[in-house]
Amino acid sequence: MATSPQAENPLLGSALDAGPIRFDLLRAEHVVPGIDALIASAKEGIDALGEAMAATYQGTLGALETATLKLERANALCEHIESAATSPEFRAAWNEAQPKLAAFWSSLPLHEGLYRAVKAYALTDEAKGLDPVRARHLKKTLDDLKKHGAELPPAGKQQLTEIDVELAKVTTKFSQNVLDATNAFELYIEDEARVAGLPELAKRAAREGAASKGKEGFRFTLHAPSFIPAITHLEDRALREQLYRAYNERASGGTLDNRALILQILKLRRAKAKLLGFKDFADLVTMDRMAKTGERALSFIADLRERTKEAFAKEKAAITAFAGHELAAWDVAFYAEKRRKALFDFDEEALRPYFPLESVLTGAFEIFRRLYGVEFVARDLPVWDPSVRPFHLVDGKGEHLATVYIDLFPRDNKVQGAWMAPIVTAVPPAAHVAVVAANFTPPLGTGEDTLPALLSHREVETLFHELGHLMHLCLSRVPVRSLAGTSVAWDFVELPSQIMENWTWERDAIDLFARHYQSGETLPQGLFDKLVRARTYRAASMQMQQLGYAEIDLDLHCRFDPETDANDPVERARDILAAYVTAQLPPTYAMLASFGHLFANATGYAAGYYSYKWAEVLDADAFGRFREEGLFSQDVGAAFREAILARGDSADPGDLFKQFRGREPKLEALLERLGLVPASA
Ligand SMILES: [Zn+2]
Repeated sequence: MATSPQAENPLLGSALDAGPIRFDLLRAEHVVPGIDALIASAKEGIDALGEAMAATYQGTLGALETATLKLERANALCEHIESAATSPEFRAAWNEAQPKLAAFWSSLPLHEGLYRAVKAYALTDEAKGLDPVRARHLKKTLDDLKKHGAELPPAGKQQLTEIDVELAKVTTKFSQNVLDATNAFELYIEDEARVAGLPELAKRAAREGAASKGKEGFRFTLHAPSFIPAITHLEDRALREQLYRAYNERASGGTLDNRALILQILKLRRAKAKLLGFKDFADLVTMDRMAKTGERALSFIADLRERTKEAFAKEKAAITAFAGHELAAWDVAFYAEKRRKALFDFDEEALRPYFPLESVLTGAFEIFRRLYGVEFVARDLPVWDPSVRPFHLVDGKGEHLATVYIDLFPRDNKVQGAWMAPIVTAVPPAAHVAVVAANFTPPLGTGEDTLPALLSHREVETLFHELGHLMHLCLSRVPVRSLAGTSVAWDFVELPSQIMENWTWERDAIDLFARHYQSGETLPQGLFDKLVRARTYRAASMQMQQLGYAEIDLDLHCRFDPETDANDPVERARDILAAYVTAQLPPTYAMLASFGHLFANATGYAAGYYSYKWAEVLDADAFGRFREEGLFSQDVGAAFREAILARGDSADPGDLFKQFRGREPKLEALLERLGLVPASA
C-alpha cells in the first residue's frame, strides 16, 4: 500500500470539514480514538453552554448544534461503513465504539446544565419572539429532553442510561446475527433438472455463483437476488420448501439465535417507556409522530384491514382454486406467479431487458430534473468500493446542493436491502452528503460475454423510492440542522420516497428510462399494458401482509408484556400473522428472528412499521395532484419541493401536507390505486 497520511484520522479535524470525505483513508484503527476524541470535545462544548447560561438562542440551542456537529457526522460515517463495507476489524472497532456513542447520546437529555440552560432560555423575551422555525426547535428540544429523561431523579437517569447502552448492544448483536445467518447458508444443486423453472438470468447467476466458489452446478443463497427468483419459479417443491424454511428460520436457532435477544429488547423498551411515564413503548415513540399514540396506529391498521378483508378472501379462494390444492407457505409465490402469467400472460422477467441500470438511472435523473430542477453530475471522488459512483447534485443555478454516492450491488461486506443514509445533513449554503445503497441484480459475466445489470420492475421502484428519500435530504433548506432533511416524524418520512414510485407506473415516465439493452427500443405498448393490468393483482394479499407485520410490531410494543406474558414473541408473531397470510405458516416459521426493521436498532421501525401504510395514504393522495395537474408539472413539482422537500421537520407534518394538497389526507386514493374500490372519474 502506498504511503497515506496515517497521522490524520479521517474522523477528526479538517478531514471531515472540508472537501470530499476520505472513505479511502478510513480504517478500523481510526474508529475508537476518533469517536473518543469527538465525544470528549462534544462534552466540553455542552458543559460550557450549561455553565454559561446564556440568554440567547445562539448561546444555548445554537451552541448545542455546534457541539454535536462533528460527532454526529463521524457517527453517521462509521455506521455507513459498517453497513456497506465492513470487515472483521472494522466490526470489532465499531462494536467497541458504538456503546460509547449510545451512552453519549442518551446522556444529553440527562445533562443537568444543558436542561437548566434551555429551560431558562425558554422563559426569556428573546425566546418568546423567535421565528416559527427556531420556536419549533426550542419546543421540540424541550419536549425531546423531557421525553428522554431530563426530569427524572438521578437514580432514574442512571437506569435510563443503562437501558440505552444495553439496547444499542443487543440490537447490534441482533443485526449481526441476521447478517451472519444469511451468509452462513448456501446450497449447491448439481442436477440441472432440479432447477427447472428458474428464469435464464437467475440460472446463470446461480451457475456463476457456484463457479466462483470452485463448484459444479448451481449455488443458492438467502440474498434477495438469489432467493426471490428461486422461491418464485423453481418447479421442485422440495427445493422451494428447503429454501423457504432456511429463509424464514434465519437466526432462530443454533449459535446465531435471536430469540432471547428479541425478548430482551422488548423488555428493555418496555422498561424504558415505563420509566419515562408512558403506558408502553408504542406510546413513547408515537408521541411526536402523526399517529400520536399506539392505539391510534392500531385502529388505523384495523380500519384498513376491514376495508381489505373481503377482497383478500376472494384472492385466497382464487389462488387455491388455481393451484387445485391447499397451498403450503412455499407454494404461494410460485402459484401467484403462475396465475399471474395465466391471467395476464405476463412474465415480469420479460421487463428486465428494458431496464438496464444505466438507462434507468439516466431516466430517473431526467425525471428529477423536470420535477425539482436538479441535476446529477458525475464526479471523481474517493469511495469505499470501486463500484460506488459519486455525483454532485446541483440546482438550476449551478449551486452544489449535495454530494451523493450511489452503491447498488450486493457484496459480502454489505447488509441486505436498500436504503438512503445521510452522512452530512447540512444547513444551506453548505452541501449535504448522502449514500443511496441497494442490493440489485448485478451485471453478469466477463469480456465478450457480459450482460449489463438488468433490473426487475420492483428494483426500479426501489431505486426511485431511495432517490425520493435522497431529494428529501438534499433539497432541505431548513436553517436548523436538527430539524433539517429527513429528520422528520417516522410516519411522514416515507412520503417523499413512496411518491416517486408512482412515476415507475406511468407511460410517459417509463419512456424516459426504459430502453432495451440490445435494441435500444422503448417498452412495447403490449408489455406496458400487461404491467399496468397486473399492478393490482393480489393487491389485497400484499396489503394484508404489510398490515400483518404492522400489527405484529404494534402488538409486541403495545399489548405484549414481556415480563408477565408467557408466550414466546416469535410464536406470538406467527399466530398474529396467520390471519393475514394466504397459506398456513409452518410451526418452525420464525420470521421475527430476522425482522431487522423492528430489532436491528434501538428504535428503528419499532412501533413504526405501520408508517409504511400511513405514508402510502399520504403519497397516493399527494400524487393525485400530479395526476390532476400534470405528471411533470413544474408548478406541482415546485410546490412539492417548497412545501415538503425543502422543509424537513421545520413545521408540523400535517400542516406541510395540507399546504401542498390544500386539505387533509384522504384514504380513498390508496384504495383506488390498489383496485380495492372503483376508481373515481
Ligand atoms: Zn423508505
